[in-house]
Amino acid sequence: MKKQILVSGLRASSEPHIGNYLGAIKQFIEKQDDYDCYFFIADLHTLTTPFQPEELRKSSWAVLADYIALGLDPKKSTIFLQSQVPQHTELAWIFNCITPVSELQRMTQFKDKASGENIKNINAGLLNYPVLMAADVLLYKGEVVPVGEDQVQHLELSRVIARKFNNAFGKTFPEPKPILNKTAKIMSLSEPTKKMSKTSGSGILLADSPEEIKKKLKKAVTATDAKGKSEGVDNLMRLLKEFGTEGQYEFFQSQLKDNTIQFSHLKDALAEAIANHFAEFREKRAKLLADPEYLAEVLAEGSKKAQSIANKTIEEIKGKIGLL
Ligand code: AMP
Repeated sequence: MKKQILVSGLRASSEPHIGNYLGAIKQFIEKQDDYDCYFFIADLHTLTTPFQPEELRKSSWAVLADYIALGLDPKKSTIFLQSQVPQHTELAWIFNCITPVSELQRMTQFKDKASGENIKNINAGLLNYPVLMAADVLLYKGEVVPVGEDQVQHLELSRVIARKFNNAFGKTFPEPKPILNKTAKIMSLSEPTKKMSKTSGSGILLADSPEEIKKKLKKAVTATDAKGKSEGVDNLMRLLKEFGTEGQYEFFQSQLKDNTIQFSHLKDALAEAIANHFAEFREKRAKLLADPEYLAEVLAEGSKKAQSIANKTIEEIKGKIGLL
């Protein structure tokens, strides 16, 4: 039976953090046997927010090494760099021309990223981000996309774009469905009302050493409100549930209940659990990064495969819309 086509990617704005792992990469690994998978490094999406060229280059390699060290298999899945498959931007341009600006302006992520302090960073790419995302998926006629809650609205727009194109030019694209990640959002350690992101200090990187993990967790906010609720503690407990050893979560949960908990103990236990979980990964990753030729080969193979499918889609579309 033909496998369904799955497409997803991760931006290269910094090295991946544990939020990216729980919210995205973990699912990629679980799905790679059951779907025909396309996993890419979304370096073009990274350009929509402030970036440093050297950082971007470094993070792109880091995302690739992390993908493979965590278990994505280049023999099973097509793994590639978005900018090495120029058809992504070609299709995005065509989609731009059938997407109302009003649809883009109402995207909550755009509103968030373009508000307050960030107002000086609004660029046209930020507004058009979901159009490029639609192109990323539909170029391969993607049928399913593993997403976190934050990407659901963008994927809805991908479906609107697919439908619009199909209605205007004949059935061409499937309407991609989300595979919604059940893991709750992982929050920032320093500002637990915000999601863990790629800005420094707020997140634990997958490649962080045990010492770095411990240091970051030590500083994690655990303040409680008047009702005794704490977003910071909830977040630490969420992480312990994911990474802790058997019974550890229940142990601290009961201490929380009877108010005997010492947060330093919780943080130490969590630091050890996360460090252990990624111990093998760190070794594999270091070996991969020491072998840039192998990594470049993976990308070359992946882009070649992606391009051959992408070319077919572009040729089909050009014919349908009247481009010679
Ligand atoms: P991005 O950094 O925006 O490229 O994120 C890539 C994927 O990681 C998306 O599917 C997000 O839903 C997921 N993700 C990013 N940050 C978090 C977080 N703090 N908690 C859970 N998932 C996240």
